[in-house]
Amino acid sequence: MHKQAKKERTLIIVKPDGIQRALIGEIVGRYERVGLKLVGVKMMIPTEELIEKHYTLDPEWRMKTGLKTIKGYQDKGLVPPITDPLEITAKVLKNLISYMTKGPIVVMVWEGAHAVQIVRKLTGGTEPLTSDVGTIRGDFVLDSYSLSDGDKRAVRNLVHASGSVTEAKDEIAHWFKKEELFDYNLFMDHITYGTDLSEILGN
Ligand code: ADP
Ligand code: MG
Repeated sequence: MHKQAKKERTLIIVKPDGIQRALIGEIVGRYERVGLKLVGVKMMIPTEELIEKHYTLDPEWRMKTGLKTIKGYQDKGLVPPITDPLEITAKVLKNLISYMTKGPIVVMVWEGAHAVQIVRKLTGGTEPLTSDVGTIRGDFVLDSYSLSDGDKRAVRNLVHASGSVTEAKDEIAHWFKKEELFDYNLFMDHITYGTDLSEILGN
């Protein structure tokens, strides 16, 4: 495998509910134990501008998120309260800004082979009601679109995780300066990526 492919990076945010629920360690542990490497971390109370820009870096995000919400309702045989995807996202964005600026968040960059896909898999689908068991969102939250939309707030799902390699690149540049990210070796890298294990296994 090409060396660069082992250095794919993805952005994670522990959202305010993750911090309030004392789940930072649990969340970090799940990414750590799969073999990914933490290469940047910071804590802050973000401004509204930072959050709005974060979610709208991808010009397609509004449409994709609106359509995903509609599908989430339809898959359960429910009728979405709003049928225009962009109208849904306008409300979601407003609620997200208010949710994400209410308290401190922890922003992290994780590195390793298939980092984006692996982290999405461990994080689980957007709506906790249908996120797989064993994922962070599936194991620790019980929220749903119908609950959050009815109460006019964002779905609480503990973490943000970049949705694609392109999204990850844009999001990392949005949250981190170059000098805030670290390129270093871990002893563990040998067992994760090494081709000759005889040095470690002694045979
Ligand atoms: P993900 O975080 O899984 O990538 P999206 O990018 O589609 O999901 O949406 C960003 C965040 O917006 C979600 O994590 C969730 O907190 C919130 N959200 C998305 N859709 C809805 C919705 N229909 N109602 C309330 N909140 C939503
Ligand atoms: Mg997303």
